[in-house]
Order: sequence, then C-alpha cells, then structure tokens
Amino acid sequence: MGKRALVTGVTGQDGAYLSRLLLERGYEVIGAYRRTAALNLWRLEELGVADRIRFLPLELTEFTNVLRLLQQTKPTEIYNLAAQSFVGTSFEQPLYTSEVDALGVMRLLECVRVVDPSIRFYQASTSEMFGKVHETPQRETTPFHPRSPYAVAKAFAHHATVLYREAYGVHASSGILFNHESPLRGAEFVTRKITSTLALIRHGRRETLELGNLDAKRDWGYAEDYVLGMHLMLQRPKGDDYVLASGRTATVREFVDLAAAVAGLKLRWEGEGAQSRAVDERGAVRVRVNPEFFRPAEVDLLLGDAAKARETLGWKPACTLEGLVEKMMRADLDRAARGALVASV
Ligand code: NDP
Ligand code: GDP
Repeated sequence: MGKRALVTGVTGQDGAYLSRLLLERGYEVIGAYRRTAALNLWRLEELGVADRIRFLPLELTEFTNVLRLLQQTKPTEIYNLAAQSFVGTSFEQPLYTSEVDALGVMRLLECVRVVDPSIRFYQASTSEMFGKVHETPQRETTPFHPRSPYAVAKAFAHHATVLYREAYGVHASSGILFNHESPLRGAEFVTRKITSTLALIRHGRRETLELGNLDAKRDWGYAEDYVLGMHLMLQRPKGDDYVLASGRTATVREFVDLAAAVAGLKLRWEGEGAQSRAVDERGAVRVRVNPEFFRPAEVDLLLGDAAKARETLGWKPACTLEGLVEKMMRADLDRAARGALVASV
C-alpha cells in the first residue's frame, strides 16, 4: 500500500513545507484544515503544492469530527501540526489553547487507538516546555518548566504522546522543536514581525517597529530543515522523543541587527531596558520598546542540543541564522516592492 499522510494544520508554516516534502517523496497528502469563512492557502500556493493535496475539514475540538476523518481517510502516518501556536495569544485565550493544544491531541491519540493503532503519529512539541530552563543547553532529558498556557498545554500533549507509546504500543513520536522560522512564518511571531516591518520601513510605508523584550534569546532555525526531521522520526522502527535545534542562540536585538543589515538600514542603539531604541542615519527612531508586547511570564533563554537527532536520525540543519535572516528579509522586501505586504500587529 502506498504511504498516505494526514497533515493537521496544513495551512500553517510547517504544514506547507512538510506537505511539499511528503509529495516529493511520493506520499498521498491529506491536508486537514480548520474551516473558516475564507480558506487561506497562500503558503501552499506559494510553494506550488495546493492543487496536489486532498483537503478535508478538521476541528480538533470536535471528537467525532476527528474520529470520522481517521475512519474515512485511513492514513499510514499522522503529523499533528494543528495548534493555537502563538504564546502571546495563549495568555488571552488559555482555555481555547488548552482545548486544542492539549485535549485536541488526546482526542487524536484516542482515535488512533480505536481506529488503527498501527498509524504512526508525530506530535509537534516545543522548546517552550523548557520555559524557565533548568539546564543549558536543553535536551530530551531536561525537566519542563512551562511559562505560558501554550507551554502548559503542549507539555500535556507531550506526556500524552509518550503515554500512548508506552501503554498501547503506538508508534508515537514527540518532536521537541526549537523556534523555526521562514518567509512563511506567521506575522505575529517576532522574526517575521521584524522582517515584514523593516521591509515596510525600507519602502517608506512605516515609521517604526515596536517590540517587547529585546533581550530574550532564542535558538532559531529554518523551518524547511525541521520538517525533514519530523519525517525522519516516523521512519524509525519505533517512536521516540527528539530535540531539533540549531545549537546557537541569539537575542531579539541581534535578529533586528542582522535583518536591518540585509535591508540596508544602518541602525544605532541608544538607551537601556524599556528605553532602548534604534535610530537610523538621519536620527529617525526606527525601533522602540512598547511594554504592551511584554509577556506576563517570559522564557529568557532557549538553546537546544540536537545530538540525539543527529546520531539517531542523521539530522542536521543546513541553514545558518544569517542564511535564515537573509531568506526572510529578502522575501519581505520583495513582497513590499510588489505591494503584497500588510503591516503586522
Ligand atoms: P502555524 O500557526 O503556522 O499553524 C498552525 C495550524 O494549526 C494552522 O493551520 C491553523 O489553522 C491550525 N489550527 C489552529 N487551531 C486549530 C483547530 N482548533 N483545529 C484545527 N486546526 C487548527 O504553526 P507552525 O506551522 O509554525 O507550527 C506547527 C506546529 O508546531 C504547531 O503545533 C506549533 O505549536 C508547533 N511548534 C512550532 C514551532 C515554530 O517555531 N514554528 C516550534 C515548536 C513547535 P488556521 O490556518 O486556520 O489558523
Ligand atoms: P515564542 O518563542 O514561541 O514565544 O516566539 P515569538 O517569536 O512569539 O517570541 C520570541 C521572543 O521574542 C519572546 O521572548 C518574546 O517575548 C520576544 N519578543 C520581543 N518583542 C516581541 C514582539 O513584538 N512580538 C513577539 N511575538 N515576540 C516578541
């Protein structure tokens, strides 16, 4: 039988890159999307794969919807990428986030157990679970200390995935992925907010970029590298947990500097803490801190150790931080030049 993958969250960043990779490898791809007034396929269209996917609606809060989808499609692999994925929103919508990101995963796992326990299952776990980190770098054995409703929900889902592997023998893997970005990243995340707003500033359509905590450190990688890791996990004889990370950390401020250099904006930082700001050659303030973007609890530092994935899966990221920033900045400059970029929040 040919391989058939069900990708939940197919309209998101990772859903787009993963679908392309699976199609290239000869899979039939079933794309599960959340029904909205206007189905948003821009990422899949940008990658040129939208017309090769079989789309079916899926709402992870509806048990029978999940059940019928699995009975109807009989996938050999499930990649569960669907989530309320933004940490900031999870502080405003903690219950919805838990419904989707925690209980939604339990619903899916229950359906796998009932419909066909031989289905291989990938859960999109996150480095945010390490939160207030207990060791650096973080690896599979590092204890979790979640710092947002999002991270709490994802920790539940991680443990549920491990449980279904241990209790019912499901081939279930939890990919603990550090932040991964791309030109297809959602505009609310800090990297894409930086590149899209700097592109608008470069084209004279915005004055300033307002950010929160400039000193937060993240281990940023390129999404295309990371979806390959997801696929490799499901090709192993057994399910397991793996960290995927670049092994390098940088501050939000450093990301701004790298992006500004690609955009041809010469910025100079002034002031400290909440008074920090970056001015251009003419003295115009181009970046400033707005405390509105601070979070009630912050994850100060993330740095991952992907040694297990390297040794077991042969996985290694190909794209550097500089390469990533260049791809994102150039894509947004190009979109701005075509008038295809709207200001992010
Ligand atoms: P995106 O936010 O780009 O995509 C999330 C997807 O989930 C979208 O397709 C969204 O649909 C869908 N979705 C949201 N709510 C529901 C729901 N109730 N029912 C069904 N579908 C829903 O995320 P990414 O592609 O960046 O991330 C993929 C997964 O990996 C997520 O689970 C995320 O939490 C996790 N992750 C991401 C990391 C990263 O750095 N990118 C790091 C670690 C983990 P719609 O388009 O309608 O909004
Ligand atoms: P996260 O790691 O999943 O929360 O990814 P984000 O891209 O949303 O945030 C990464 C880090 O950037 C966090 O520590 C945020 O507090 C910090 N940050 C600083 N300013 C901003 C901002 O304006 N928007 C967002 N989204 N994050 C910001």
